[in-house]
Amino acid sequence: SYALEIKDLEKTYKGGVKALRGIDLEVEEGDFYALLGPNGAGKSTTIGIVTSLVNKTSGSVKVFGYDIDSDLTRAKQQIGLVPQEFNFNSFETVQQIVVNQAGYYGVPRKEALIRSEKYLKQSDLWEKRHVRARMLSGGMKRRLMIARALMHEPRLLILDEPTAGVDIELRREMWEFLRELNASGTTIILTTHYLEEAEMLCRNIGIIRAGELIEDTSMKSLLSKL
Ligand code: ADP
Ligand code: ADP
Repeated sequence: SYALEIKDLEKTYKGGVKALRGIDLEVEEGDFYALLGPNGAGKSTTIGIVTSLVNKTSGSVKVFGYDIDSDLTRAKQQIGLVPQEFNFNSFETVQQIVVNQAGYYGVPRKEALIRSEKYLKQSDLWEKRHVRARMLSGGMKRRLMIARALMHEPRLLILDEPTAGVDIELRREMWEFLRELNASGTTIILTTHYLEEAEMLCRNIGIIRAGELIEDTSMKSLLSKL
């Protein structure tokens, strides 16, 4: 079954910019998939539509079979999103941030506390649980964004340019973390404009340019063509 199934997706923004010109894309359950393309190609728009932050113009999107038009709540439950920018309340503590997030998804507080221990430990942030997020290093903030996205235990994790502006050491650390997460069964989709990042991590890749998917293939066969 597909974690994500996109059919003929189009987006024209109000100003008239055609950001997506008929995208077809399928990501299998368990996959680690990269959406690669230059700035302005339509990566964030695609992710925005899948996570229902952006309205589509036409086409269809299914997440683990749930159509975002008819089953939005269930579709959203399947997805954890790690946006590009830090968007937590930096005056809250690390643990408050992840526990509150679970609350938005209807996870009971007791269970949220149990999960916060699990995911903060996994992200190497448990020792920092009582620290206000503003005091964390950049790397810790990135890990916090991921831990927060995992709190409702989504089957699909989507990361928008997860390592943009991140130094090489931290980038390696994040790659390792994401690899383990994928190995434990979470389907992962990330957007990037670094081929190297896609190459290091992903099994399959879609290349998007000017709102069109110009390539959709396995990483192996892409690399053999270069
Ligand atoms: P990417 O994530 O690949 O950099 P985007 O999806 O952000 O690309 O952008 C695709 C196109 O849509 C670009 O031309 C961008 O300027 C335009 N765009 C993105 N968001 C908006 C918006 N809210 N309003 C109008 N145009 C937008
Ligand atoms: P939607 O159609 O999904 O509701 P909008 O078209 O309302 O999205 O986007 C909101 C506004 O954000 C746009 O009118 C635009 O002025 C602005 N905007 C945000 N990002 C961009 C971008 N990358 N390029 C152009 N405009 C942008």
